[in-house]
Amino acid sequence: MAILKVARMGHPVLRARARALSPSEIKSPEVQRLIDDMFETMHEYQGVGLAAPQVHESVRLFVAGFSPPDDDDDDDEEDRGRSVPRLALINPEIKIVGENMAEDWEGCLSIPDIRGRVPRATQILVQAYDRRGKRVELRAGGYTARVIQHETDHLDGILFTDRLEGEDRKAALRSIRNANYDSVTERTTAKRAKTVGSSFGGGSFGTGTAGTSTKGTGASAPGTSANGTPGAGSVGAAG
Ligand SMILES: [Zn+2]
Repeated sequence: MAILKVARMGHPVLRARARALSPSEIKSPEVQRLIDDMFETMHEYQGVGLAAPQVHESVRLFVAGFSPPDDDDDDDEEDRGRSVPRLALINPEIKIVGENMAEDWEGCLSIPDIRGRVPRATQILVQAYDRRGKRVELRAGGYTARVIQHETDHLDGILFTDRLEGEDRKAALRSIRNANYDSVTERTTAKRAKTVGSSFGGGSFGTGTAGTSTKGTGASAPGTSANGTPGAGSVGAAG
């Protein structure tokens, strides 16, 4: 397994519409390895989700998963609703159930240090392939629904900042301008061209800050994941 480079805002791969994978492609060693590497990369950077375009692969695939740490005190109400089952979904199609929307904070591993309150549907139905190439359908609500919508947006070249409104949007765009991601991307790309291979071990990108995006410290019981899938055990934030 390997930790993959995460593309930052400004990189064109984040704005492309990713292509679908066929069931036979899903079962290929290349895609299986990509899924494993994406889980590892997501955990390394303490994300709650990670879409393939974020690791420079323009295919319709994302991983997600978050379990609030169980060794904390139990007073963080917010965290208890934050469990996300461990998921690898391919070619996801989202149907919004009902009309309820909610705003909540989101961050993104591709947009370090920026957060914003994003309106999302609170209940969704997702049809997709799982990593074995089997059709799956799942209903998701709350934070899990939010993460799935955030990650599926990545497959269509949409970033959460596109969905911000009003002052939130202005503030985020101002911060992004100050962060000057475009030049950062160029620099890391140039560096990568020289040192071929994914040999960076927690050095140049995003360490330390990526985990601060959507949540604070954790508190909750283990095994409370929404769909009964065992959680991934990651701590953190963004997708
Ligand atoms: Zn994201």
